[in-house]
Amino acid sequence: MVKKQLEKRMKKEISYLKDYYLDDNVHVNQVSNEFDVVNIFIKSSIKLKYNVKIEICHDYPFKSPAVYLLSKENNNIISYADFFKQRDIFYLNKVRLLHYECPCCHNLLCSRNISHPLLEITKDIEKFDLQFKRLRTLYYMKIIRNYIKKLRQDNINSIIEYI
Ligand SMILES: [Zn+2]
Repeated sequence: MVKKQLEKRMKKEISYLKDYYLDDNVHVNQVSNEFDVVNIFIKSSIKLKYNVKIEICHDYPFKSPAVYLLSKENNNIISYADFFKQRDIFYLNKVRLLHYECPCCHNLLCSRNISHPLLEITKDIEKFDLQFKRLRTLYYMKIIRNYIKKLRQDNINSIIEYI
């Protein structure tokens, strides 16, 4: 993309992120030449409970950005698709979640087109986080259902349907 156009687009994209995640939570590194990678950091907040790093190469938006989650305790970094894939595995072996979407096959970067803004990609992280929570809830519901004597089994089944 022509440099000027890319600059304009990046400005717009960053303003979308700042509007959504709040100004103080979004930081962009300063680059000195147009071939440097632009790093956008999003601090964990109520909307997105992860520290996120987005790497933008000079051939963005034709080349997809790389999107990572940063560990809060150490310097570990992992792509969000890998993170949720690894996190889901334990529960997937125990319960079956209806309409489950595999994080590595169904993340937005797989089906991305150049008009997708970065905000859509960070919302994809939120989507997989929500899915993980549903999976975990389903797992614990199945465990506790055996211990609940007061609730009738068919009531429990109807609760599980809504997870
Ligand atoms: Zn997959």
